[in-house]
Amino acid sequence: MEIKVAQKMLDANDEMARHNRLLFKEKNVFVINIMSSPGSGKTTLLEKTLGRIQPDINCGIIVGDICTKNDAERILKTGAPAIQINTDAFGGECHLSAGSIEKAASDFNLEEMDLLIVENVGNLVCPAEFDIGEDVRVVVLSVTEGEDKPLKYPLMFRESSLALLNKIDLLPYLDYDIGLTKKYITRINAEMPVIEISSKTLEGFDQWIEWLKNRIIQKK
Ligand code: MG
Ligand code: ZN
Repeated sequence: MEIKVAQKMLDANDEMARHNRLLFKEKNVFVINIMSSPGSGKTTLLEKTLGRIQPDINCGIIVGDICTKNDAERILKTGAPAIQINTDAFGGECHLSAGSIEKAASDFNLEEMDLLIVENVGNLVCPAEFDIGEDVRVVVLSVTEGEDKPLKYPLMFRESSLALLNKIDLLPYLDYDIGLTKKYITRINAEMPVIEISSKTLEGFDQWIEWLKNRIIQKK
């Protein structure tokens, strides 16, 4: 019985995701869904990314958290319009659904937007199960997490088009085997590019921004 209910929820979500994807295509907006565990540095990465691509690229940001508007307030300071979704009103859901994206996106002027970035709720599990109508999914994994995260949460890594290996400025202070992480990522998703990055030193940003711009161009 419970399985049936869960399947119905996913079917309804997929239907809404299809609707979103059509809308974003019609408005010529490229949509990226950024996912990771809490504390991997998504928001800081976004702040620095927006600093690099604005105003050439018109951006809008949707941020998901269970509570607080902290992340949206940080993003707004970059000059990009940002909408915070708090899932505590929906029982504290630990992911963003296609329906919540549809509602938030209706508050943006999509006509003038090139790129919509969704910072999903920090969680390596169910955000990967919910299509929100995005064009690409990017998983952020920081070097303060275990090397074997890709093996423990394979769906997230299977469903993503790019992995950003974040906080590499911390490597000198850690016993972290970055080669092992890459090996595990490749084991789950052989095709996936991995970019080593640091929002502090900005290492890897050229490569990341180039990847992003290429993907936006491909859609146009
Ligand atoms: Mg955040
Ligand atoms: Zn969830």
